[in-house]
This record gives sequence, structure tokens and C-alpha cells, in this order.
Amino acid sequence: MRLSCEVIRDLLPLYYDKVCSKESSSLIEEHLVDCPQCLGELQKLKLNLEKPIVSDGEIQVMENIALKWKRDKKVWFTKGSMFISALAAIICFIAYNVIGAKVMPDGTLVEPFALIPMGYIFILVFIISLICNFVFLKKYKSNTK
Ligand SMILES: [Zn+2]
Repeated sequence: MRLSCEVIRDLLPLYYDKVCSKESSSLIEEHLVDCPQCLGELQKLKLNLEKPIVSDGEIQVMENIALKWKRDKKVWFTKGSMFISALAAIICFIAYNVIGAKVMPDGTLVEPFALIPMGYIFILVFIISLICNFVFLKKYKSNTK
């Protein structure tokens, strides 16, 4: 059975990936023996598949997007932690004032002491986030110049 070059070329990618049937493979091989044009197509296919499909320019663009996304994520993370820590610190101090100091009937003084260091810890986190955010932004600005 003799197949046309067109049919063979349609089958070449399948043959190259070894996903066509044994019968097709042997037909293609038979054809390739006495058809240098189709053999050339197979060589081209090999070269094309071994080369990366995306160009260097496209890779660069993708890397830039990935980098930008990564740095945006970092900035948003520090912004988020700034906001949350500021909010938490405010809540701690407000809660401390709202709860206030109480003297229990048995005479012991009950104060929500834990809220004060917690509030300071959140303030510290807020300051660290602020510095990180500032440093990130400064670094990215100097990078993009
Ligand atoms: Zn051919």
C-alpha cells in the first residue's frame, strides 16, 4: 500500500511521538525509505520539537511578569501585615481601656495586663512591616530605573 506524501506528513508528528499504530509506523517507515522529502520533514519536526517553542523575548516578558507579580505580592503582604498589626494594636489598647481594672469581691485586682504587651508587639510588627514595605519599594524603584 502506497500512501501519498500528504498523508505521511499528517502522520509524521504522531510517528515522531510514537503514538500511532504499529501498522502506520511501518507504512511511514516504508515511505520514508524512498521519499527524501518526507524524511526531510521528519528531520525538521525533530529540530522544531527539540527547540524551545517560545522565543527568548517571550521568556523575558514572562520572567518580568513573574518578577513583578512576586514583588507586588511582597508589597501587598507587607501592606496587609501593616494594616492588620495596626488594627490589632488599636484593638488591644481599646480593649484594655474598655475592660479596665476591676477589683474582685475578694479584693484581688484584675487587669487585662496581657493586652499591653500584646499591643506593643503589634506596634512592633507594624513598624517592621512599614520598614520592609519602604525597603521593598525603594529597592524596586532603583531596579526598574
Ligand atoms: Zn513522501
